[in-house]
Amino acid sequence: MEIHEVSPGVTAFIRPEGGANVGLIQTSEGIVVIDTTSRESDIREFLAAAGVAPSDVCLVCITHSHNDHTKGIPLFDCPILAHKLTYQRIAKRKSTKLKTQLLPTKVFEDRRNIEIGDRCLEFIHAGGHTPDSSVVWLPEIEVLFAGDLIFEGRYPFLATANVPDLMKALKWLLTLGAQVIVPGHGLLCAEDTVISQLNYIELSWNRTADHIAQGHSIDEILEDSEYPIHPGLGAERLHKWNIEVMYRQLKKTAS
Ligand SMILES: [Zn+2]
Repeated sequence: MEIHEVSPGVTAFIRPEGGANVGLIQTSEGIVVIDTTSRESDIREFLAAAGVAPSDVCLVCITHSHNDHTKGIPLFDCPILAHKLTYQRIAKRKSTKLKTQLLPTKVFEDRRNIEIGDRCLEFIHAGGHTPDSSVVWLPEIEVLFAGDLIFEGRYPFLATANVPDLMKALKWLLTLGAQVIVPGHGLLCAEDTVISQLNYIELSWNRTADHIAQGHSIDEILEDSEYPIHPGLGAERLHKWNIEVMYRQLKKTAS
């Protein structure tokens, strides 16, 4: 894990090894945490590395329901804010001992502007990666916590995505004018990463649609070596999964 000061008082815990990143925003009323990793012990360790106690945290924002962003929630005794679909998706999980402790305590729809002390945050629903995916935008300093809408340096994980919604969400991200983007996974980045991820998805989506129009089976499509390549972790496995997701969604729209 690496600690990066993105802007004075705004810190990103970046995990080049692949785990979900975490954000920490200092305000005059306490600390805001964005996402909580897949283990309470991990988020506890990250906060300690930044000299922050869990009791210093006044708000936790959860970008979406995936385990690697939510499992550290029980560490906190403050409001846990998420989109209402995030709440519903966690509530729908098969019963686990932790489920009740993982539920957000406050929900929003569409967007929530949050003024805490000297800071202004916008928590905005975007969908795409999952139906509940949301981003935290700090307009005054043009910093975006993009959650898993952005995977830097690796193939995006599309298994839970609605691909057309994701393409729309990425185009919308580009309208914000972010100077620094903290992705859900991977290193700090900027708009060029959004553009290259969007290109990968659009080219792959259109190529898969062409194959389907020509009557090709999924096995034939997976043999196509001309798909765009993304370097990074888990490339081959994720390429296959992503094309299968696109194939299923395109077939469903066609039927
Ligand atoms: Zn995710």
